[in-house]
Amino acid sequence: MKTPAEGQFELHRPNFLSLALPKETALARIWDEIHEQHAEADRLNAKYGVRFHIFKGIESDILADGSLDYPDDVMNQFDFVVASVHSRFRIDPREQTERILRAVAHPRTTILGHMTGRQLLRRPGYEIDIQKVLKACAKHGVAVEINANPWRLDLDWHWHGRALELGCMMSINPVAHSTAEIALTHWGVEMARKGGVPKERVLNCLELPAFTDFLNRRRRRGMRSKPRTRQTPARRSRER
Ligand SMILES: [Zn+2]
Repeated sequence: MKTPAEGQFELHRPNFLSLALPKETALARIWDEIHEQHAEADRLNAKYGVRFHIFKGIESDILADGSLDYPDDVMNQFDFVVASVHSRFRIDPREQTERILRAVAHPRTTILGHMTGRQLLRRPGYEIDIQKVLKACAKHGVAVEINANPWRLDLDWHWHGRALELGCMMSINPVAHSTAEIALTHWGVEMARKGGVPKERVLNCLELPAFTDFLNRRRRRGMRSKPRTRQTPARRSRER
């Protein structure tokens, strides 16, 4: 008999490399679930071997000072971390930029999520120096998310060409809160095409060895820079 996870991966196996966790629940409450999911991922990876590999990912809030809300020992248990702003949208643009630059430089950050925070027809994003942030992403080997949710489509396609020129890798993420929402990925693909992004520059279009290599390179760069440790309990933001 198949477990629910096996059923899901049969449906989506050809396209998806990652299993990311819901972000709006307090870490303490989902900790058992995380361990269960990780054990299940390990079991499936062992069972299916070279046919596919499940990577463990999590989205971490960028706090007011640019640090991440999960302690390093939590983030170390994941293969990748998406760092995103979910609060304090209206601070000074320079301060907002600095905050994000600090998060991009964080050794555990793998992907910068929805860089400007905009939601189409709902709210403008926060103001930042996008060019500066893109440069930092390229420098630290942090991928830039093309958020595929049709309310976001963030980073906007107008910036994709500049991101590529500066050396950024992009990542098309559906931010699915259900298996059905994985289908939203196509909006991100269409935006990436409009922005002129070739598949070689999309993290989750890479073949398994190249994808693993990207994560390892990021880890090695992270280890060379000084890790910031947070011992305080993880805090969750209400704003998504
Ligand atoms: Zn988010």
